[in-house]
Amino acid sequence: MSRTRRFPQVRFDVFKLRQVPRVIVVLALLCSAGVWAARGPQKALQIFFVDVEGGQATLFVTPAHQALLIDTGWPGNDGRDADRIVAAAKKAGVSKIDYVLITHFHNDHVGGLPQLVARIPVETVIDHGDNRESTDAPTVQVWQAYQQLLAANKFKRLTVKPGDSLPIRGIETTVISSDGTVINNPLPGAGQENASCKGAESYPADQTENRRSLGTLITFGKLRILDLGDLTRDKEMELVCPTNKLGAIDVYIVSHHGWYQSSSPPFLNAIAPRVAIMDNGAKKGGTPSAWDIIEKSPRLEDMWQLHFSDEGGAAHNVASDFIANPEGPDAANYLQLTAWLDGSFEVFNSRTAKTKRYPARH
Ligand SMILES: [Zn+2]
Repeated sequence: MSRTRRFPQVRFDVFKLRQVPRVIVVLALLCSAGVWAARGPQKALQIFFVDVEGGQATLFVTPAHQALLIDTGWPGNDGRDADRIVAAAKKAGVSKIDYVLITHFHNDHVGGLPQLVARIPVETVIDHGDNRESTDAPTVQVWQAYQQLLAANKFKRLTVKPGDSLPIRGIETTVISSDGTVINNPLPGAGQENASCKGAESYPADQTENRRSLGTLITFGKLRILDLGDLTRDKEMELVCPTNKLGAIDVYIVSHHGWYQSSSPPFLNAIAPRVAIMDNGAKKGGTPSAWDIIEKSPRLEDMWQLHFSDEGGAAHNVASDFIANPEGPDAANYLQLTAWLDGSFEVFNSRTAKTKRYPARH
């Protein structure tokens, strides 16, 4: 016995819709295709906030298909952090990393580099110059490992200073801080007086590699993204007091994993980010005092966290949808930001598979 399966006939023939003039239908189809092309992944900047458990590893892939990785996470753990970075590169569709930017020579930033170069080609490493913190054993160790990679010609080295532009295609990258110095002059459009400098606390000069962090402003169309590594409050004050040399920022990659030694009130009032993304670990960063300062900053729409901060507890963590890794066994969930030239962007949480859109505001 043979059976004929019948499917309901589906017809999509817009040209037979008599009530809609044909020209309007055609124009509508063309417009939606145009919008799709402008918003499609090929025109977007992708940023992966890789979970390296309280270190930093932030991967940018530009529409020109160039990859910039800011920091490489920790050493050890059988290459855990390098594996996570390579997985993000795969998702972004790149098979090499054109530029690795090392903000400073602490082991939660440069420690994963030897394991990374063993897994994926790296063309150029950008740094602030030599390590100057010779009293801290883990720092000396990762600095020595870095020198060995240089001696073995594993990649080219590029040392930069404030005001330099980085040669990455598809984004504009300006060096804000490097080796303990910061830009002399305000960036274009910035330079306003910062009222919150009056009576502000003065911070002692940091003595570690943190204050030497290589910080950058990344501009993509109308979107401004700030990453200052672990730059400390004494250096933030040089950037925003008495005048605001940076201007308003759209996306603030929270300095120092949200630890209290960065993110001073005059700094957050000056940069006034729309969105802050904190690369904290469960037990590293996310200090309640710094969290409060960011949360209360004047234009903030949302803060996102890579982890629930144990120290923050119920009162100093964002809502669960904005956390990639809540309490419990670590699942290496990541956050992904997709940005378009008009200044709009969205943030995706790989754990919830939810995306939040932020329209352009210019
Ligand atoms: Zn750090």
